[in-house]
Amino acid sequence: MTIHDQTTKRGLDMLRDPRYNKGTAFTREEREKYGLMGLLPDMVSPLDMQILRIEGHIKSLTEPIDKYVYLSDLQERNESLFYHILMGNPEAYMPVVYTPTVGLACQTFGRIYRRPKGLFISARHRGRIAEVLRNWPESDVRWICVTDGERILGLGDLGAQGMGIPVGKLALYTACAGVPPHMTLPIVLDVGTNNEDLLNDPFYIGMRERRLTGDEYDSFIEEFVAAVQTVFPQCSIQWEDFANHNAGHILERYRDHISSFNDDIQGTAAVGVAGILSALRMKNEELKDQVFMFFGAGSAGTGIADLLCRVMHKEGIPLAEARKKCWLVDSKGLVVATREDLAETKQPFAHEHQHVHTLVEAVRLTKATALIGTSTIPKSFTQDVIQQLAINTDRPIIFPFSNPTSKSECSAEEAYTWTNGKAIFASGSPFAPVVLNGHTHYPGQGNNVYIFPGVGLAVYATQASAIPDRAFAVAARALAGMVTAEQFEKGLIYPPMANIRQAAIVVANAVTRFFFDEGLARVERPNDISAFVDAAVWEPEY
Ligand code: NAD
Repeated sequence: MTIHDQTTKRGLDMLRDPRYNKGTAFTREEREKYGLMGLLPDMVSPLDMQILRIEGHIKSLTEPIDKYVYLSDLQERNESLFYHILMGNPEAYMPVVYTPTVGLACQTFGRIYRRPKGLFISARHRGRIAEVLRNWPESDVRWICVTDGERILGLGDLGAQGMGIPVGKLALYTACAGVPPHMTLPIVLDVGTNNEDLLNDPFYIGMRERRLTGDEYDSFIEEFVAAVQTVFPQCSIQWEDFANHNAGHILERYRDHISSFNDDIQGTAAVGVAGILSALRMKNEELKDQVFMFFGAGSAGTGIADLLCRVMHKEGIPLAEARKKCWLVDSKGLVVATREDLAETKQPFAHEHQHVHTLVEAVRLTKATALIGTSTIPKSFTQDVIQQLAINTDRPIIFPFSNPTSKSECSAEEAYTWTNGKAIFASGSPFAPVVLNGHTHYPGQGNNVYIFPGVGLAVYATQASAIPDRAFAVAARALAGMVTAEQFEKGLIYPPMANIRQAAIVVANAVTRFFFDEGLARVERPNDISAFVDAAVWEPEY
């Protein structure tokens, strides 16, 4: 039985539903059976012809945003074909449906908006959020990705236009790990925006008011979580692109009540730690011999530092010692014990040290061997910073993680050139390979997409009741462990993006096993975990 036999939709209703529509690929028998005769031209196109046609069109478009809009239209028209395209060449299409292009898509969302792909729950809906959730046409939602649009990538407050992010993220849950798309739901909590440009933009799509704050904001989130539990009791929540001042406490407040995680904190932490573990495998060194410098001490920076300490602790390094190996720099300089302005998340890393204002001095004085950028300050890894790092260690680890590309702390070319090809490099947004002295260096991309789809699939398959930080340490180790000697040879510390599906399944297997071992799974433990994970994977049906 195909999915088409499981719906009562017929004729144009079937063609207009992206879940069922397969356009000119409907066979003559299907056209007869589902009342489609005359609604389609005579030609019956096999799937590969449709893919050729779509890819030809995408190639003819020069601007990434036009490719985004085109693929977005396809997703609204023919979901299976969209996922066939995305899964067939993730390396080519992920940068279109997600970072870096999605940043521009959010900035211009009011101009390119076509049809809803998720729910806009606004402050106007207070007291009625459950009713709004019930307007969603699916009743068995297992994954919600939700943002309030306050810190979209490194682009700041984009209000309701942040919708592009949960839409893109959930598309990757499906494309990379096979989480069934009809069980995912992108949501924007439209609590207003403080972005003056948007407030004055006639095309802005959101509520034209300033952001809710304080108790009003907290009770709105509270109502949202309660409503999700009522309307979709088996649903997990991914918190996404909340501003630093809300992200941490929302995560802490709900992580024990509802299966949930924050990708900016925990997903980033896992991909950052995986990169570090893999880089150390590459240069054959140990965690205990490193000094880590985090430039940018927000959700991402402190998230990676925390998880890294957890992993060091598991390897036998006392927690206090592990923390001493991690230094943070924020907008006011090195985070040191004498500073009185420090957020709680930074305090474990505030060591006894003189005040230091510049990054280069901080790198020199701490003898850092690894530099991780999550500051959103472009070009802040200057030549003198990078060369100082290369004085401290033979093979410096350099991770400018800020997104999109315009915010990157340095380029791949700069990192390789200024270290004479010695840098072990990975960035947040992709960079092209760099040829230096006849040798080609392949920059890695420390993209959270290596982690969250696999974790998402494991949670979906096991119905995990909670997603503790330890699950992300497991994911990081699994990812780092799959990089091959041949890939190290090319300079890669993550599997190539072309292998993203394989990476997601490796992560999903490890995390699924963890959920069963820890008693967090709410389904019976199978004999064969790998077969169990494979069976949970959704494939686009045709
Ligand atoms: P955030 O707002 O929580 O943190 C940004 C931090 O940078 C803040 O603590 C701020 O104080 C600090 N900062 C600002 N100016 C600075 C300066 N002059 N010097 C030093 N620090 C300064 O944001 P976040 O969630 O931590 O994200 C930060 C960046 O990391 C974004 O660009 C985001 O796209 C990127 N990121 C990348 C990945 C990835 O590649 N996998 C994952 C998550 C986040």
